[in-house]
Amino acid sequence: MLRLVLTYLSQAAWARRIVQGWGFANRTAARFVAGETLDEAITVVKDLNSRGIYTTLDHLGENVTSREEAILAADEIIMIINRLVDEGVPSGISIKLSQIGLVLDPEICRENLFRIMESACEGNIFIRIDMEDSSLTQATLDLFNSVRSEGFENCTGIVIQSSLLRSQDDIKDLMSGSCKVRICKGAYKEPSTVAFPKKKSVDENFDRSTELLLDRSLEIGSSVSPDGSIPPLPAIATHDQVRVDHALNYADQIGLDKRGLEFQMLFGIREDIQVSLHDQGYAVRVYVPYGSEWYPYFVRRLAERPANLWFFLSNFFR
Ligand SMILES: Cc1cc2nc3c(=O)[nH]c(=O)nc-3n(C[C@H](O)[C@H](O)[C@H](O)COP(=O)(O)OP(=O)(O)OC[C@H]3O[C@@H](n4cnc5c(N)ncnc54)[C@H](O)[C@@H]3O)c2cc1C
Repeated sequence: MLRLVLTYLSQAAWARRIVQGWGFANRTAARFVAGETLDEAITVVKDLNSRGIYTTLDHLGENVTSREEAILAADEIIMIINRLVDEGVPSGISIKLSQIGLVLDPEICRENLFRIMESACEGNIFIRIDMEDSSLTQATLDLFNSVRSEGFENCTGIVIQSSLLRSQDDIKDLMSGSCKVRICKGAYKEPSTVAFPKKKSVDENFDRSTELLLDRSLEIGSSVSPDGSIPPLPAIATHDQVRVDHALNYADQIGLDKRGLEFQMLFGIREDIQVSLHDQGYAVRVYVPYGSEWYPYFVRRLAERPANLWFFLSNFFR
């Protein structure tokens, strides 16, 4: 019930206006968000990189409401690419297609995405297309497939959510190529017509998806690039120790090299697992979000774990 309310609040514009004005909310969000500016985010990225942890930057923002905003958001992403190239920082970037116009007009989004991909591929910067709620799944996959078929396959990847009933089929389609896939559970509240209602099924589907991705990685011999700029085919994105252990055991069982998969986690969450995996020789990539539009991202993190809500409320009294 609490999760439902928080998931609703993450999308409510009125709640965003109120909460973003609270100083203590800003302080709490700082646990999950690397700052409001690109300078702050790059400092965090360099620190993680210096400890052998790879990164993917996310300039927070989603669901723009005008063509101008969509173009501006794409310009901003290109600016991040240029900055990473100029500073020689091998970080990837994660983007949301609704940020560059998908909900407004798929054609505007397509133009923006192609501009981004041209700069990214030229600079050897990897772009991961995040997956949003199920109303955008097909449109996101369609645009992803169109950039792949235009020669950008090696510098882009997609996200699949194990909460969705369709995901196994999507993975099988994607695996007919050598597509880079991040598997996650899914952060959105979805109707039972499209998603598994029970957590147990979402977890089982996650493990099965992991197996499909690891099998394909072994088959095509995919591997993270030496500087971490280009990820391997499977990215296992979870903080769930049982899911991580399943991936480790399965990789071991099929004889997949440690660099043939990578683990991904969010900034500020389960740093103990991040360090332990890195120490065992696995590639670990941290998703580093930044920007002033932190509200929906932050409330989704609260929804995932009630303990975070108490952390949030305790900051009110400080
Ligand atoms: C790198 C990365 C990229 C992602 N990209 C997307 C995407 O494109 N689209 C999408 O829908 N979702 C995305 N997600 C979010 C994902 O779908 C889940 O909502 C989120 O990861 C929580 O699920 P979990 O796998 O960690 O498992 P859970 O079962 O939710 O949690 C397992 C354990 O992890 C820890 N944990 C989980 N969440 C939190 C938290 N917020 N605060 C503190 N501890 C926590 C707790 O110890 C918890 O017991 C991404 C997640 C990661 C790590």
